[in-house]
Amino acid sequence: MPPLPVLLYHSVQDNPPARLAPYTVTRRRFAEQLDTLLASGRTPVTCAQIAAARTGGEPLPEHAVAVTFDDGYLDFLCHALPELTARRIPAALFVTTGALAPYGRSLLPCAAMLTLPEVARLDALGIEIGAHTHIHPQLDTLTPSAAAWELTHSKEILEQALGHEIPLAAYPHGYSGRHVRELARHAGYRAAFAVRDALSPDGDDPYRLARLTVRADTPAERFDAWLNGTGAPVAAPREHALTLAWRCYRRARAYLPRPLAESR
Ligand SMILES: [Zn+2]
Repeated sequence: MPPLPVLLYHSVQDNPPARLAPYTVTRRRFAEQLDTLLASGRTPVTCAQIAAARTGGEPLPEHAVAVTFDDGYLDFLCHALPELTARRIPAALFVTTGALAPYGRSLLPCAAMLTLPEVARLDALGIEIGAHTHIHPQLDTLTPSAAAWELTHSKEILEQALGHEIPLAAYPHGYSGRHVRELARHAGYRAAFAVRDALSPDGDDPYRLARLTVRADTPAERFDAWLNGTGAPVAAPREHALTLAWRCYRRARAYLPRPLAESR
Protein backbone atom coordinates (compact mmCIF):
# COMPACT_ATOMS: atom_id res chain seq x y z
CA MET A 1 0.00 0.00 0.00
CA PRO A 2 1.48 3.44 -0.90
CA PRO A 3 2.24 5.76 2.06
CA LEU A 4 -0.56 8.01 3.26
CA PRO A 5 -0.46 11.82 3.37
CA VAL A 6 -2.18 13.10 6.54
CA LEU A 7 -2.36 16.88 6.23
CA LEU A 8 -2.00 18.99 9.38
CA TYR A 9 -3.48 22.48 9.38
CA HIS A 10 -3.73 24.94 12.24
CA SER A 11 -5.47 28.10 11.09
CA VAL A 12 -7.27 29.32 7.96
CA GLN A 13 -7.63 33.08 7.82
CA ASP A 14 -6.34 36.15 6.04
CA ASN A 15 -5.16 38.24 9.03
CA PRO A 16 -3.53 35.92 11.60
CA PRO A 17 -1.75 37.09 14.76
CA ALA A 18 2.01 37.28 14.15
CA ARG A 19 2.91 34.16 16.18
CA LEU A 20 0.32 32.12 14.31
CA ALA A 21 1.11 33.45 10.83
CA PRO A 22 3.69 30.78 9.83
CA TYR A 23 1.07 28.09 10.51
CA THR A 24 -1.84 29.86 8.82
CA VAL A 25 -3.02 29.45 5.25
CA THR A 26 -5.20 32.04 3.57
CA ARG A 27 -8.82 31.23 2.79
CA ARG A 28 -8.09 31.27 -0.93
CA ARG A 29 -5.04 29.00 -0.58
CA PHE A 30 -7.04 26.56 1.55
CA ALA A 31 -9.81 26.34 -1.06
CA GLU A 32 -7.21 25.81 -3.80
CA GLN A 33 -5.52 23.06 -1.78
CA LEU A 34 -8.81 21.24 -1.23
CA ASP A 35 -9.53 21.45 -4.97
CA THR A 36 -6.06 20.04 -5.66
CA LEU A 37 -6.73 17.26 -3.15
CA LEU A 38 -9.94 16.24 -4.92
CA ALA A 39 -8.37 16.56 -8.37
CA SER A 40 -5.55 14.22 -7.27
CA GLY A 41 -8.01 11.32 -7.28
CA ARG A 42 -7.20 10.41 -3.70
CA THR A 43 -10.01 9.26 -1.42
CA PRO A 44 -10.43 11.40 1.72
CA VAL A 45 -10.65 9.18 4.80
CA THR A 46 -11.36 9.80 8.48
CA CYS A 47 -8.83 9.50 11.28
CA ALA A 48 -10.94 6.67 12.70
CA GLN A 49 -10.35 4.78 9.44
CA ILE A 50 -6.61 5.43 9.77
CA ALA A 51 -6.59 4.24 13.38
CA ALA A 52 -8.47 1.09 12.39
CA ALA A 53 -6.14 0.37 9.46
CA ARG A 54 -3.00 0.92 11.57
CA THR A 55 -4.24 -1.46 14.30
CA GLY A 56 -5.05 -4.42 12.11
CA GLY A 57 -8.54 -3.43 11.04
CA GLU A 58 -9.96 -2.69 7.64
CA PRO A 59 -7.29 -1.46 5.21
CA LEU A 60 -7.51 2.05 3.78
CA PRO A 61 -8.38 2.67 0.13
CA GLU A 62 -5.20 2.39 -1.93
CA HIS A 63 -4.85 6.15 -2.55
CA ALA A 64 -6.19 7.77 0.59
CA VAL A 65 -5.61 11.19 2.16
CA ALA A 66 -6.70 12.76 5.44
CA VAL A 67 -7.19 16.32 6.67
CA THR A 68 -6.56 17.27 10.30
CA PHE A 69 -6.51 20.50 12.29
CA ASP A 70 -4.79 21.15 15.62
CA ASP A 71 -5.45 23.53 18.51
CA GLY A 72 -9.10 24.65 18.09
CA TYR A 73 -9.01 28.11 16.51
CA LEU A 74 -12.32 29.82 15.80
CA ASP A 75 -11.48 30.17 12.12
CA PHE A 76 -12.04 26.42 11.69
CA LEU A 77 -15.76 27.08 12.13
CA CYS A 78 -15.87 30.29 10.10
CA HIS A 79 -13.51 29.53 7.22
CA ALA A 80 -12.40 25.89 7.04
CA LEU A 81 -15.70 24.13 7.70
CA PRO A 82 -17.65 25.71 4.80
CA GLU A 83 -14.93 24.75 2.30
CA LEU A 84 -14.70 21.20 3.65
CA THR A 85 -18.47 20.78 3.71
CA ALA A 86 -18.89 22.10 0.15
CA ARG A 87 -16.49 19.40 -1.06
CA ARG A 88 -17.69 16.64 1.32
CA ILE A 89 -14.17 16.21 2.69
CA PRO A 90 -14.03 14.76 6.23
CA ALA A 91 -11.71 16.35 8.78
CA ALA A 92 -10.53 15.87 12.34
CA LEU A 93 -10.07 18.69 14.83
CA PHE A 94 -7.73 18.15 17.78
CA VAL A 95 -8.75 20.54 20.54
CA THR A 96 -6.64 22.06 23.32
CA THR A 97 -9.35 22.08 25.96
CA GLY A 98 -7.76 24.63 28.30
CA ALA A 99 -7.45 27.14 25.45
CA LEU A 100 -11.13 27.18 24.56
CA ALA A 101 -12.99 30.49 24.76
CA PRO A 102 -14.10 32.38 26.74
CA TYR A 103 -11.77 31.57 29.65
CA GLY A 104 -8.87 30.03 27.74
CA ARG A 105 -5.48 29.75 29.42
CA SER A 106 -2.83 27.74 27.66
CA LEU A 107 0.63 27.91 26.11
CA LEU A 108 -0.81 28.59 22.65
CA PRO A 109 -0.40 31.97 20.93
CA CYS A 110 -3.19 34.40 21.80
CA ALA A 111 -5.88 33.96 19.13
CA ALA A 112 -9.65 33.66 18.76
CA MET A 113 -10.59 30.17 19.91
CA LEU A 114 -13.69 28.00 19.66
CA THR A 115 -15.98 27.54 22.65
CA LEU A 116 -16.89 24.11 24.01
CA PRO A 117 -20.50 24.40 22.70
CA GLU A 118 -19.06 25.20 19.25
CA VAL A 119 -16.87 22.10 19.46
CA ALA A 120 -20.00 20.11 20.31
CA ARG A 121 -21.74 21.62 17.28
CA LEU A 122 -18.84 20.61 15.03
CA ASP A 123 -19.01 17.11 16.49
CA ALA A 124 -22.73 16.95 15.66
CA LEU A 125 -21.93 18.06 12.11
CA GLY A 126 -19.60 15.08 11.68
CA ILE A 127 -16.20 16.64 12.34
CA GLU A 128 -14.05 14.14 14.24
CA ILE A 129 -13.08 15.71 17.55
CA GLY A 130 -9.85 14.57 19.18
CA ALA A 131 -7.90 15.72 22.22
CA HIS A 132 -4.79 17.89 22.02
CA THR A 133 -4.04 18.06 25.77
CA HIS A 134 -5.31 20.73 28.15
CA ILE A 135 -2.69 23.51 28.04
CA HIS A 136 -0.56 22.41 25.06
CA PRO A 137 2.74 21.49 26.78
CA GLN A 138 5.63 19.51 25.31
CA LEU A 139 4.45 16.22 26.82
CA ASP A 140 7.83 14.52 26.62
CA THR A 141 9.39 17.13 28.92
CA LEU A 142 6.79 16.66 31.69
CA THR A 143 6.83 14.25 34.61
CA PRO A 144 4.83 11.09 33.86
CA SER A 145 2.03 12.16 36.20
CA ALA A 146 1.76 15.61 34.63
CA ALA A 147 1.77 14.18 31.11
CA ALA A 148 -0.87 11.60 32.10
CA TRP A 149 -3.04 14.37 33.55
CA GLU A 150 -2.81 16.40 30.33
CA LEU A 151 -3.86 13.36 28.28
CA THR A 152 -6.72 12.26 30.52
CA HIS A 153 -8.12 15.66 31.57
CA SER A 154 -8.59 16.88 27.98
CA LYS A 155 -10.17 13.54 27.05
CA GLU A 156 -12.60 13.71 29.98
CA ILE A 157 -13.65 17.32 29.26
CA LEU A 158 -14.45 16.46 25.64
CA GLU A 159 -16.19 13.20 26.52
CA GLN A 160 -18.39 14.96 29.06
CA ALA A 161 -19.27 17.76 26.63
CA LEU A 162 -19.88 15.55 23.60
CA GLY A 163 -21.37 12.55 25.35
CA HIS A 164 -19.24 9.91 23.67
CA GLU A 165 -15.77 8.40 23.74
CA ILE A 166 -12.84 10.42 22.39
CA PRO A 167 -10.58 7.72 20.93
CA LEU A 168 -7.98 9.93 19.22
CA ALA A 169 -5.32 12.36 20.38
CA ALA A 170 -2.64 14.51 18.82
CA TYR A 171 0.51 15.48 20.72
CA PRO A 172 1.28 19.24 20.97
CA HIS A 173 4.12 20.03 18.55
CA GLY A 174 4.02 16.33 17.70
CA TYR A 175 6.35 15.56 20.61
CA SER A 176 5.88 12.20 22.27
CA GLY A 177 8.60 9.71 23.29
CA ARG A 178 8.06 6.10 24.24
CA HIS A 179 6.74 6.81 27.76
CA VAL A 180 4.26 9.41 26.46
CA ARG A 181 2.96 6.95 23.87
CA GLU A 182 2.48 4.38 26.63
CA LEU A 183 0.61 6.98 28.69
CA ALA A 184 -1.65 7.73 25.71
CA ARG A 185 -2.44 4.05 25.37
CA HIS A 186 -3.08 3.79 29.10
CA ALA A 187 -5.38 6.84 28.99
CA GLY A 188 -7.62 4.88 26.64
CA TYR A 189 -6.76 6.42 23.28
CA ARG A 190 -6.89 3.99 20.37
CA ALA A 191 -4.40 6.01 18.33
CA ALA A 192 -2.48 9.26 18.51
CA PHE A 193 -1.04 11.57 15.89
CA ALA A 194 2.44 13.06 15.90
CA VAL A 195 3.82 15.43 13.24
CA ARG A 196 7.13 14.15 11.82
CA ASP A 197 6.49 15.91 8.46
CA ALA A 198 6.47 12.53 6.80
CA LEU A 199 4.11 10.23 4.93
CA SER A 200 2.47 7.51 7.03
CA PRO A 201 3.37 3.98 5.90
CA ASP A 202 1.31 0.82 6.39
CA GLY A 203 3.28 -0.19 9.49
CA ASP A 204 3.21 3.27 11.10
CA ASP A 205 3.06 3.23 14.92
CA PRO A 206 -0.63 3.85 15.83
CA TYR A 207 0.55 6.01 18.76
CA ARG A 208 2.91 8.08 16.62
CA LEU A 209 1.08 8.53 13.32
CA ALA A 210 2.94 10.77 10.89
CA ARG A 211 1.47 13.96 9.48
CA LEU A 212 2.58 16.71 7.10
CA THR A 213 2.33 20.32 8.33
CA VAL A 214 0.79 22.69 5.79
CA ARG A 215 2.47 26.03 6.47
CA ALA A 216 1.86 29.54 5.14
CA ASP A 217 4.86 29.11 2.86
CA THR A 218 4.25 25.52 1.70
CA PRO A 219 4.74 25.75 -2.07
CA ALA A 220 2.02 24.40 -4.34
CA GLU A 221 4.59 22.05 -5.90
CA ARG A 222 5.34 20.46 -2.52
CA PHE A 223 1.64 20.10 -1.74
CA ASP A 224 1.16 18.42 -5.13
CA ALA A 225 4.12 16.13 -4.46
CA TRP A 226 2.65 15.00 -1.12
CA LEU A 227 -0.53 14.02 -2.94
CA ASN A 228 1.62 12.05 -5.37
CA GLY A 229 3.17 10.23 -2.40
CA THR A 230 6.51 12.05 -2.78
CA GLY A 231 8.05 15.32 -1.56
CA ALA A 232 8.50 14.06 2.02
CA PRO A 233 10.16 11.08 3.68
CA VAL A 234 8.18 8.01 4.62
CA ALA A 235 8.06 7.82 8.45
CA ALA A 236 10.64 5.39 9.81
CA PRO A 237 9.54 2.90 12.49
CA ARG A 238 12.27 3.99 14.93
CA GLU A 239 13.00 7.46 16.23
CA HIS A 240 15.83 9.29 14.51
CA ALA A 241 18.94 10.05 16.59
CA LEU A 242 18.39 13.78 16.04
CA THR A 243 14.84 13.47 17.44
CA LEU A 244 16.26 11.86 20.57
CA ALA A 245 18.98 14.52 20.92
CA TRP A 246 16.45 17.34 20.47
CA ARG A 247 14.24 15.80 23.18
CA CYS A 248 17.19 15.67 25.60
CA TYR A 249 17.86 19.35 24.94
CA ARG A 250 14.20 20.34 25.44
CA ARG A 251 13.96 18.30 28.65
CA ALA A 252 17.08 19.91 30.06
CA ARG A 253 15.73 23.34 29.13
CA ALA A 254 12.38 22.59 30.78
CA TYR A 255 14.14 22.00 34.11
CA LEU A 256 16.21 25.20 33.99
CA PRO A 257 15.06 28.07 36.24
CA ARG A 258 12.49 30.01 34.21
CA PRO A 259 14.37 33.36 33.70
CA LEU A 260 17.44 31.52 32.39
CA ALA A 261 15.33 29.25 30.18
CA GLU A 262 13.54 32.23 28.71
CA SER A 263 16.74 34.15 28.10
CA ARG A 264 17.89 31.56 25.54
ZN1 LIG B 1 -1.00 22.29 18.71
